[in-house]
Amino acid sequence: MDDRKFRNAMGKFATGVNVIATEIDGEVYGMTANAFMSVSLDPKLIVISIGNRAKMLDRIRQSGRFSVNVLSCEQQEESMRFAGQKEFEDKFDFGQLGDAPVIEDALCQLSCEVYNEHTEGDHVLFIGKVNDLVLEDGDPLIFNCGKYRRLEAFEEAVK
Ligand code: FAD
Ligand code: NAD
Repeated sequence: MDDRKFRNAMGKFATGVNVIATEIDGEVYGMTANAFMSVSLDPKLIVISIGNRAKMLDRIRQSGRFSVNVLSCEQQEESMRFAGQKEFEDKFDFGQLGDAPVIEDALCQLSCEVYNEHTEGDHVLFIGKVNDLVLEDGDPLIFNCGKYRRLEAFEEAVK
């Protein structure tokens, strides 16, 4: 099956957009990711999926910790920055939650430790145990059919 057709199919499933962040020896790294799911309430587990060509893969293996930051509709620039879709001159300032660097003003910050990992095809699924979280009000940034969207567009569409 053609890769583009598969991606077009997966892109029909509208998601939010996250930035995954981790720290190694005082250096902080971020990566945009939409593959994310809640897994378990007891214990509190989530899953992310990292491609085997992403630098974030070894970074998380090395640190054993990461944050998941659910972006607001005001944070498309952050998504583009950490997906390498746009170059930025300025330094990015991260916050801190527990042992993980976080994106300030994200709708949700989850500070996680690696609980398990599973290699599946060309991605690695990291199960994260959530040790701390912070919530903010606001609307999410949406990713659908390869484009960034806002929730309002969907609300208008169903009127
Ligand atoms: P890098 O290439 O090192 O980092 C990515 C970008 O972030 C670079 O431009 C880098 O300059 C910048 N950056 C990193 N750290 C900092 C810092 N401290 N300060 C400033 N800038 C920094 N890939 C997946 O594997 N899984 C997914 O679920 C996934 N979902 C995606 C969803 C969307 C909407 C998009 C647009 C992309 C998604 N990707 C996903 C692709 C992934 O974001 C890119 O392939 C990314 O470039 C991989 O980054 P990297 O770990 O190789 O690190
Ligand atoms: P796209 O049309 O490639 O993405 C649509 C959907 O396809 C995504 O939401 C995701 O579910 C799936 N997808 C895309 N690339 C994938 C991959 N390598 N492995 C597994 N699933 C994948 O959207 P786009 O605007 O062309 O994406 C921008 C870049 O970000 C591309 O390079 C894309 O590969 C990457 N991306 C990767 C993932 C991922 O690895 N899970 C997810 C989203 C986007």
